[in-house]
Amino acid sequence: VRFLDKNAKNFVNFSLLLIALLIAVTVFFILMYRYSTIIFYNYILLIAAGVIILMALFAAVTVFSVIHVYKAGYASSLFIVPVKIALKLLFPLVLLIAGIFGGDKDEIRKVFVKTNNLSVESNGRKYRPEDVLVLLPHCLQYSGCEHRIIHDMNNCRQCGKCPIGDILKIVKEKKVTARVVTGGTAARSVVKLLSPKIIVSVACERDMASGITDVRGIPVLGIINTRPKGPCLDTTVDLDLFRKKLELVLE
Ligand code: SF4
Repeated sequence: VRFLDKNAKNFVNFSLLLIALLIAVTVFFILMYRYSTIIFYNYILLIAAGVIILMALFAAVTVFSVIHVYKAGYASSLFIVPVKIALKLLFPLVLLIAGIFGGDKDEIRKVFVKTNNLSVESNGRKYRPEDVLVLLPHCLQYSGCEHRIIHDMNNCRQCGKCPIGDILKIVKEKKVTARVVTGGTAARSVVKLLSPKIIVSVACERDMASGITDVRGIPVLGIINTRPKGPCLDTTVDLDLFRKKLELVLE
């Protein structure tokens, strides 16, 4: 593999590890087949049944917690841990199942984002303006606008053709940092560079769900955008909700 670059070497190394693991598992099963007794098989079946029952119980407890918090609009301390586990483990599995059976993943992501927000808000913590980062998707900008707002939102002329102008007014009033980003990679770089203590973000269901999952250790309050012209074009956002979410986390 000397002729390969670093990325390809990495790929080959982990592929070889996968093949080695598959061979090890196969050898294990062949040895089991050769030397085990029926009592041993029964134990394995019993353990497998026990694990599945535990997983079903875990799923039931986390689903109940999510539904309770979703309906109540508040996450009491009793539900914080199961809700956090649900956000990390249950939702990706439910999304996988929904994908396989053709379910509406965005509906599930909406529940994910609302549950995440409730778990962040219920904590009740307040932040200084300099610790807050507002992340906005580029598609909020009017597609015909010629002003470059990606590196500096202050280039916006607040002409009223898109929500960027009003958002700029709000973030200036609240003295928080805001950045317009073109995607997940750019968002991650900004977060790494500015190291905020909390993020208030606007995005579509898919980007928001993956963003919340990606950003570890920093709470994210998500606001789903609206897309009157379809995805990624001249999108908009509920400005009252945006202001409310900001005020909720600010000191
Ligand atoms: S509000 Fe700002 S970003 Fe939106 S169209 Fe006007 S100048 Fe461009």
